[in-house]
Amino acid sequence: MLVLKNITKDYASGDTKVEALRGVDLVFGESEFAAVLGPSGCGKTTLLNIIGGLDRYTSGDLVIRGKSTKQFTERDWDTYRNHSVGFVFQSYNLIPHQTVLANVELALTLSGVSREERRRRAVQALTDVGLGDQLNKKPNQMSGGQMQRVAIARALVNDPDILLADEPTGALDSETSVQVMEILKQISEKRLIIMVTHNPELAETYATRIVRIRDGEIISDSDPCDAAEDAEIGKPIGRKPSMRFPTALGLSLNNLMTKKVRTFLTAFAGSIGIIGIALILSLSNGIQIYIDRVQEDTLSSYPITLEAERLDMSGLVTSLMGVNARMDEGEGGHELDAVYSNTIMYDLISSLSQTETQTNDLAAFREFLEREDSELLLRSSAVQYGYALDMNIYAKDADGTIFLSDVADLLQNAMASLYGGDYSSYFEQFGGAYSMMQVWEEMLPPQSGDGLVNGLLTEQYDLLYGHWPENYDEAVLIVNKDNEISDLVIYCMGLGSQDQVTEAMRRIMAGEETEAFDKRWAYDEICGTTFKIILPAEYYQYDSLSGRYNDVSATEAGMDFLYNAPDVGTAVKIVGILRPNEDAVSSMMTGAIGYTSALTSYLVEKTAGLEALRKQKESPDTDVLLNLPFLTEDYFVSDGQKRADVTEHLRSLPLSERAAVYVALQSRPDEDYLDAIVDQQMEGMTRELIESQVTDSYMQQMGVDAATVKNYIAGMDDETLFAYVAEAIREQATEQYAAGVQQQLGALPTETLAGLLEDSFTAEPEAAEEAAAEPEPAAETPAP
Ligand code: ADP
Ligand code: MG
Repeated sequence: MLVLKNITKDYASGDTKVEALRGVDLVFGESEFAAVLGPSGCGKTTLLNIIGGLDRYTSGDLVIRGKSTKQFTERDWDTYRNHSVGFVFQSYNLIPHQTVLANVELALTLSGVSREERRRRAVQALTDVGLGDQLNKKPNQMSGGQMQRVAIARALVNDPDILLADEPTGALDSETSVQVMEILKQISEKRLIIMVTHNPELAETYATRIVRIRDGEIISDSDPCDAAEDAEIGKPIGRKPSMRFPTALGLSLNNLMTKKVRTFLTAFAGSIGIIGIALILSLSNGIQIYIDRVQEDTLSSYPITLEAERLDMSGLVTSLMGVNARMDEGEGGHELDAVYSNTIMYDLISSLSQTETQTNDLAAFREFLEREDSELLLRSSAVQYGYALDMNIYAKDADGTIFLSDVADLLQNAMASLYGGDYSSYFEQFGGAYSMMQVWEEMLPPQSGDGLVNGLLTEQYDLLYGHWPENYDEAVLIVNKDNEISDLVIYCMGLGSQDQVTEAMRRIMAGEETEAFDKRWAYDEICGTTFKIILPAEYYQYDSLSGRYNDVSATEAGMDFLYNAPDVGTAVKIVGILRPNEDAVSSMMTGAIGYTSALTSYLVEKTAGLEALRKQKESPDTDVLLNLPFLTEDYFVSDGQKRADVTEHLRSLPLSERAAVYVALQSRPDEDYLDAIVDQQMEGMTRELIESQVTDSYMQQMGVDAATVKNYIAGMDDETLFAYVAEAIREQATEQYAAGVQQQLGALPTETLAGLLEDSFTAEPEAAEEAAAEPEPAAETPAP
């Protein structure tokens, strides 16, 4: 099955060359259990890596099933590695937070077999190694021997012809080692196993053949195979690699960092953290198709983004790197015998102050992009334009309440109704996490041609029900792999009530367990859910009486109107349900409701056409919302003019409002009056008196007990304490005065009050001006 012909392998190590293998000749048959024995550093791992296609020989030839590998392309190696070889290492390379079953299944993820088939095969492989009853354990709940058996199961799940094991028992005690060897021995009945070990006893007991190696050369072979004979039984490798997850997890960095892999890594350095292990695996095994797929999927999830403005942080990064480098090199110019200083703050602040905001001309770039001969557009899968479009998406909840379908808004409201207060900026501080909570997301537009969504999406998602959006006012719900949506989405869809959000919030805050929704929704219950998008400018409705646009969204009635008026807002309907495709490496949508770019374009156009905005554009000098001229810098109005304007305004008011103005004006005591009251009350005031009398009001205001208040008062000096009491008396006097005036004046007929106001303004022009500026208390002002 395998023939090694005079294989050598040199490693360049600095200036010197390490000859890891010096002309190895070996032949292996279809089913053997060969052990490779030798001291550390003699080339065992190198030999195994070359046999497995993880590393390339320097000279010689590796003949696989009669076919020389001299002319092998990367693709051929991929095919060989992925269909013919399984690897088991000393360290088990299991993914710790996934179950044993998941770990084994992972090796089949991209094999193109169905989920059930994957599961069946993984269960079978685990049963074969005696772990059929441990499927749902995590690796960290297992012994070393069990983990190694999982690793063996993972190597076998693809049904390879050759199993390569590099010191598989190296980390195991002798008893467990025996168990693992038993399993390998069984496996070797149907396959070729080549096992590197440093344990001669195990080799003698279990292996059918022992190859000894020293300094890169074979020094003995207990059962050499006949090359000519073996070549006959070779069958050519013709299978093309299907996309499947490689079995060789966690290979050395050396293997990773070769040639184009390095370029690729560099190019994707940014996203490596994100796609993590999948990418590393694919790189180490060099499955080009898989890389392409990851690349495409990754780019679709983490696209190249151009923003109108960006901060150039390179200076900062460089200077920080400089600081670190200096620290590493220890170029402080001093002995390492005490504690010294270095200047991070200076470098940091000075580079921060040099950090510049750059502005990109996106309009020009778009033009460039959309030119007919644009290379860029031809070569990209999708281009998406983002706008600072403020979409307010409303829905009706289970109780018929109209609400904003936005996670942050829901949470804010829940907090506010629990604790009172305003939490509108509370959730924004979570930055990225906050944007992860976004439920609504624009789907990638098609690059050209038909449909409203990009082909990448239709590849990554299965349509479970309904249809893909065919019109701007159609959206889709995206469920996870288990057909679930989060509670947040449930609320945002209006499938729960706002009271439930508040209740859930209360429970969370109180540290109680939250109740999960134990509800299911039929697909057709979800499809048809409608939302209404109200653009900011649509909040302003025209009032023909005043000629102004009023924001009607503040009141419930206004919201009701906005939500129900057929000619206000844009209705959007859920028309389909999507689920991430099982084979998708990463799925690009982070939101739960996907709308089309057609909706965005529609709204952009609609905004431009809205009456208020159109009028505003036409008359740039007038604030059309208020129907008043914008204030210019040289805007100046004399006091006399102001008085005249106030008078005129008062005249225009209806009777009852004019009366109310009179009452309001009269309700303000003048300062002299207040000063007199305060003086009178403060006379003879002592600390003792305050302590005995004021404690109660303090207690109420601060919501604390008497002892705390006494302490608090005791901590104030006389001046502060007296000032505080004087201020309190003043406030009280003001309130009492106003209450008295309102009570007295309230008894007068509206006409009389309006008349009084009229008089005070218009009796004589001069007097009126004064009155407007400084209203005097009326003659018969009641004493408070
Ligand atoms: P073994 O597995 O028998 O302990 P290896 O095959 O790992 O030995 O290594 C054989 C020799 O090749 C050693 O001298 C080792 O230092 C050298 N070697 C192995 N890999 C590399 C590499 N990537 N670069 C340079 N030298 C290497
Ligand atoms: Mg080794």
